[in-house]
Amino acid sequence: MDRPGINYLRMSITDRCNLRCAYCSPWQDRVRAGRDDLLTLEEFGTVAREAAHLGITKLRVTGGEPLARPGVGRLLSDLSDIGGIADLALTTNGTLLLARLPDLIASRFRRVNVHLDTLDEARYAEVCGAAELPAVIAGIDAAISAGMRMKLNAVCDAGMTVDGASSLARFGMQRGIDVRFIEAMPVAGAGDVCHPDVVGGVEEFLRDALGLVPDGQDGVARQYQVPGQASRIGFITPSHKQFCVGCGKLRVSSRGVLRTCLFAGSGTDLLPMLRSGDLVGVREALVGAIERKTSCNGREGCEISTMVGIGG
Ligand code: SAM
Repeated sequence: MDRPGINYLRMSITDRCNLRCAYCSPWQDRVRAGRDDLLTLEEFGTVAREAAHLGITKLRVTGGEPLARPGVGRLLSDLSDIGGIADLALTTNGTLLLARLPDLIASRFRRVNVHLDTLDEARYAEVCGAAELPAVIAGIDAAISAGMRMKLNAVCDAGMTVDGASSLARFGMQRGIDVRFIEAMPVAGAGDVCHPDVVGGVEEFLRDALGLVPDGQDGVARQYQVPGQASRIGFITPSHKQFCVGCGKLRVSSRGVLRTCLFAGSGTDLLPMLRSGDLVGVREALVGAIERKTSCNGREGCEISTMVGIGG
């Protein structure tokens, strides 16, 4: 399979989150940027417009928790007005989805990935650090009713069981939405809760239990059809090389660092260029990143310092 064209930009609009997922943003590991060190919403808009000029057609807003950033509704509307961006999507933990649904409806954002690892309230509170499961489910159901195209992202940390995974798959199937199981990556401070084998065990179990039928690769996910169901089940395993092959994404972190790869130890700092009005510099940085990504055949490095700032 050839690498897709580089047409996808993922922007983490904040490093703040209202959850403390053990594998993403552990309490002991909270190093947040000062307000002035985060890109402003206008600066994110500028980056997206420059990227659209260079052939980016898909934009995903993530975080931290993007729906917790004040002014996010205005940003979603501004991004919706950019010509050339055909696909606008949001990744959220879903806790604020119900409250922010009017902002989504008022924008052109119609694809929402909700991160949900368990339907067990006690485990949810333990893994995510807050008793928000009912709010997340209410948000998902309201968003489906409002016509949003939804997907669930379930991180398979060490506590994911095959029963828990089956419940999530059935939850998705009942609602006609795709569910994707993601290998938990050992980011800084979260090594203890991540075991790369867990997602493989879930895949093997669900293939048999649901009679899954392979349906190729969708971006970085191995997809399966569920016979008789509209929902598909996917598996994302970043530690496998196949992950790179399907990836056409650039990433901009909440601090404005442009990365060609989730695993890249460093990137290009767009913030000084944006603050000094150097749009030529921003554009050149994007062109350089697209060129480097196009010619890259595999991992650039193997460090992820913190998921919450980069945005997954
Ligand atoms: N707050 C939003 C959320 O919870 O989805 C967006 C930010 S979160 C960093 C984006 C995605 O990263 C989540 O969907 C979660 O599945 C994924 N993620 C976070 N930590 C991870 C880890 N250690 N390994 C794999 N995926 C992770």
